[in-house]
Amino acid sequence: MTPRTLVLPARRDIQESEYAELRSEIQSIMTAPQMIMVCGAGTSIAAGLPGFTSSTEFFDEFRLEFEKIANQKVTVKDMFTCRMLKEEASREVLIKLIYRLHEVSSRSQPTAFHRLLKRVDNAGRLARVFTQNIDGIERRSGLTSGIPKFVEKVTTDNKIHSDGPVKLALDFNSDIPRCIPLHGSCHEVRCPLCYEHRSIEDYASDAIRGALPICPRCSSREISRAERGLRQRAVPCLLPAVVLYDETHPHSEAIAEVVNRDIKQLQEGGRSRSVLLVCATSIAIPGIQTIIQAMAKAIKENAHSPSVILINDQEPKDRKWKTTFDLWLKGDIQIFAELAEDCAGPTIL
Ligand SMILES: [Zn+2]
Repeated sequence: MTPRTLVLPARRDIQESEYAELRSEIQSIMTAPQMIMVCGAGTSIAAGLPGFTSSTEFFDEFRLEFEKIANQKVTVKDMFTCRMLKEEASREVLIKLIYRLHEVSSRSQPTAFHRLLKRVDNAGRLARVFTQNIDGIERRSGLTSGIPKFVEKVTTDNKIHSDGPVKLALDFNSDIPRCIPLHGSCHEVRCPLCYEHRSIEDYASDAIRGALPICPRCSSREISRAERGLRQRAVPCLLPAVVLYDETHPHSEAIAEVVNRDIKQLQEGGRSRSVLLVCATSIAIPGIQTIIQAMAKAIKENAHSPSVILINDQEPKDRKWKTTFDLWLKGDIQIFAELAEDCAGPTIL
């Protein structure tokens, strides 16, 4: 069964009488005490970022370079795979591509949708945002953003690290960021060994040429080992801090912990109404599918009105989504954001 569908108008300035039902649904969404949002690439298109599935113009220059190296056709998705890291030539193109994304997104402005996120957050009703975007616009809109960190704790248990006894634990003492960037960030580089993160801008002259230096943290650790007469180990080069399609997710454990904690809070919330808004995504990535299904199940347990809502111009391809969503608002996410602002008004947000 397809979820009940309401079509968003093409323009914001329509007569209220023309969308009474839609208005009532949007008001109901905007008055929910708790909102969880999932953002796809479509939320950033109005900010000038390229959509990974809808727009390939931005990627054309890089795709031609990849195709010349691979001597075969390459899709946009292929560009963001581990295969591109194996050869130096394709790794250079990938680093240049991500640096270009960093430049474009650094110049972009938050959209109506991003401003809405911040207003809901200011009203104390934004429980979490899970974003598939790597552009960091949620952070620039004023939301806290990042992955909770693992911290090393000295312990006496039998888990022995090569540099001494340590235990890794998630640092949840500090607040969990409001926005969890599921696929990393084009503004950062990371070490594939120690996960040290740095700003890509610190290495701008290297990144623009497609070559990043070795990890400074691992490098100084090796210098210290050499001073102690220990065996030297290889130090890896920094790489863009973007999670590739076929990569084992470096932060899967931390993200799962956040999702589990949020679900527990939803379940303990009892009668307090929560909504899950899945925004401008084709829901094609397995990781995001798992998060949406788990959140939807927890929210529906307490729901009395449409609570799991898709806002997208296309219906998801997989039939399993037909029973997940209560309501499909078909259309542009930016129009939704503008109507939400009109409908909600200052008394709600
Ligand atoms: Zn390192």
